[in-house]
Amino acid sequence: MKLPIPEHIRSIVPYPPGKPLDELERQYGVKNAIKLASNENPWGPSPRAIAAITAALPTLHRYPDGSSYALTQALARHLHCAPEMLVLGNGSDEMLGLLVSACMEPGDEAISSFPSFLMYQKCVQVQGCRNIVLPLKDMRHDLEAIARAATSRTRLVFLDNPNNPTGSLFPEAALLELCRALPDTALVVLDEAYRDFADPALQLDSVRLAGEQRQGAQIVALRTFSKAYGLAGLRLGYGLMRPELAAMLHRVRHPFNVNSLAQVGVVAALADQEHYARTISGTRAGLACLQEAVNGLGCRCFPSQSNFFLVDVQGDANRLYEAMLHRGVITRSMSAYGFPNYLRITVGTEAENRRFLTALAECLHELHYG
Ligand SMILES: *Cc1c(COP(=O)(O)O)cnc(C)c1O
Repeated sequence: MKLPIPEHIRSIVPYPPGKPLDELERQYGVKNAIKLASNENPWGPSPRAIAAITAALPTLHRYPDGSSYALTQALARHLHCAPEMLVLGNGSDEMLGLLVSACMEPGDEAISSFPSFLMYQKCVQVQGCRNIVLPLKDMRHDLEAIARAATSRTRLVFLDNPNNPTGSLFPEAALLELCRALPDTALVVLDEAYRDFADPALQLDSVRLAGEQRQGAQIVALRTFSKAYGLAGLRLGYGLMRPELAAMLHRVRHPFNVNSLAQVGVVAALADQEHYARTISGTRAGLACLQEAVNGLGCRCFPSQSNFFLVDVQGDANRLYEAMLHRGVITRSMSAYGFPNYLRITVGTEAENRRFLTALAECLHELHYG
């Protein structure tokens, strides 16, 4: 191939998705494998979302509503915000790409943390821009170091809150201090993929924060239906921002970026707050049970405000991950994230959590960890 692919594209490291269930079952000859690796909702989507999507199937020969009118109105009502503050995307992944496309040009910089969500760096690299990556400090975003690292070329600062993979949260005062310290030519992207699982007293009022005009950097909040609403396969995320910025993202996005099934499915999912509440309470109860049991096996769990948590398994995490695969349990080894002894575990259903604990106990014994 003579086509000169730019170096900033050639050097992108492909995103590592969690191992798919059917691939594990094929490779390892196990049955009924469980996946606690991708922070998915183990209870699935609302039955009302499934019904709405099923009912919409015969209209798939039509293009979607390019303005997602009904969904935007429903979301604005749900969030008590102006519809002009909303931009919808094909998952929050697409929102990250839209922000980078609209706000950055070659020579510009974006700041993110490590470990954190890898898509931030990838989107910036696709645009041919520079990533400045700062380590977490005590398992938290080092907001002071981020403020110090910012320059006049800094456009985006990516902060997942809660952070993936640690589950840590920062308070509003720290965020506002960062915004004041940043130049007004930068934007803070507050990725709230896991906000739903956090203690309500610790959740930021990001609708207000994203709407306010402030000295220093403005705030954009990103949210998704992939986690708490159990619709990762449907692909719907959205951004909350000042209408002036929203208008720019609408120029960049593809006209049919939100498919018609996502539009009707999410309206129905929003209307089923009982299903949502059961997911949140089931996750929080599952997290507490799992952590107590895992600590009882001689591992060390880190506190988390999310639907996953880190475990120090006191031994090589890759070997434990492999041993768990042989028992049909998929987790995430954090060795590629700079934590060679840590696994990240997603909270599952009660049955999945029990199965995980049995496998973990057996594997720790087999590998002489703990
Ligand atoms: C899962 C996740 C998302 C959600 O991505 P979608 O594209 O909406 O599925 C966003 N940010 C973080 C940190 C995540 O872990």
